[in-house]
Amino acid sequence: LFITIEGGEGAGKTSLLAELAHKLRVKGKQVVTTREPGGIPIAERIRGIILDKANIGMDARTEALLYAAARRQHLADKVVPALAEGKIVLCDRFVDSSLAYQGYARGLGVEEVWAINRFAIQDAMPDLTLYMDIRPEVGLARIRQAGERELNRLDLESVSFHRKVREGYLSLLEREPDRIVRIDAEQEPGKVLEDAISLIERRFAG
Ligand code: C5P
Ligand code: MG
Repeated sequence: LFITIEGGEGAGKTSLLAELAHKLRVKGKQVVTTREPGGIPIAERIRGIILDKANIGMDARTEALLYAAARRQHLADKVVPALAEGKIVLCDRFVDSSLAYQGYARGLGVEEVWAINRFAIQDAMPDLTLYMDIRPEVGLARIRQAGERELNRLDLESVSFHRKVREGYLSLLEREPDRIVRIDAEQEPGKVLEDAISLIERRFAG
């Protein structure tokens, strides 16, 4: 079972992922948690290049290709083997991030970004994608308040960029309602977790 968690900045993806993994492990499931871009050494190094503030002028297509390259290696080294062993893979971001950020918000075009990602992914698509929906102003305020990590190159994008990211996600949701489900990420964390678990259980009958 391949489950991805998507959403804008400050939506709480990383926290939800940790809580979900815990819940599923308590139920006796074997769970692998991971993230994109990253999750394995080569992909973490690519992540470092993408997020480095020194690379502020990076070309948008270069950026899209680096995400796709990191995704490919991460699938090959970690996700596909874990799925083959029958494990549940929970991944913080996947291809929908590229479609929403680079395809939609950055203006490269969703179809263009799909094209390079089809090459990278082949047929390894998620069984379920939890989209954590939050208004960008709310999400950005959360990460600035929490101050839990240093702001990276992409956090410095304007609020209007992040609004486009959200529009992008919402249009992906419309296109693939069977795979992508929306969770209201502005709710309190306990309720978000509850919603996520009931969505997963409904989808896979426990
Ligand atoms: O998920 P996380 O917040 O760690 O992602 C790191 C950064 O990469 C975020 O600032 C996000 O905006 C950016 N990102 C992006 N395009 C993607 C994936 C992530 O701009 N396809
Ligand atoms: Mg996160």
